[in-house]
Amino acid sequence: MPSDTITMKGKKATVTGTESLNCGHCAAVCPAAAVQVAGLNPALSTFKTFQARDAWLPHGQGNIQDLVQIMQSRRSCRNFHTEKPVPKDILEDLVKIGVSAPSGSNCQQWTFTLLPHRNAVLELAKLVGGFFEKLNRTAEKTWLRKGLKLVGKPELDI
Ligand code: SF4
Repeated sequence: MPSDTITMKGKKATVTGTESLNCGHCAAVCPAAAVQVAGLNPALSTFKTFQARDAWLPHGQGNIQDLVQIMQSRRSCRNFHTEKPVPKDILEDLVKIGVSAPSGSNCQQWTFTLLPHRNAVLELAKLVGGFFEKLNRTAEKTWLRKGLKLVGKPELDI
């Protein structure tokens, strides 16, 4: 979580630290409207594949019909009808949008793995599957589990 981001300017608490995400949460939750945040971080609101509005949407001013239509039009499926790779610029823009989402304690500690085409997804699935198979084989060996426990690695000895 960013720290040392708020200083007093005159009688107003102002977000000045270079570590600030410019997310505006501090201003949004302050009951006395005592915090000023300059605005969206331009680096986080400039996209390669489309242009975004460079401003927060004030509370209560969103278009409810549009929001409901977007939410009701969402589909979640794993059966994609195309093998066409997703362009890198689109993937990077999507990640940029995602990282501005609220997170637990506003830590924003995201990690993303971009897999631009089907083969990359399958390859990763194979590697992950192989890792767990190997781990299971290791965990089946009692002598190995006990040995690892003796050298301070008790994780497999359940
Ligand atoms: S809540 Fe967001 S805008 Fe406010 S100081 Fe923290 S990171 Fe910066």
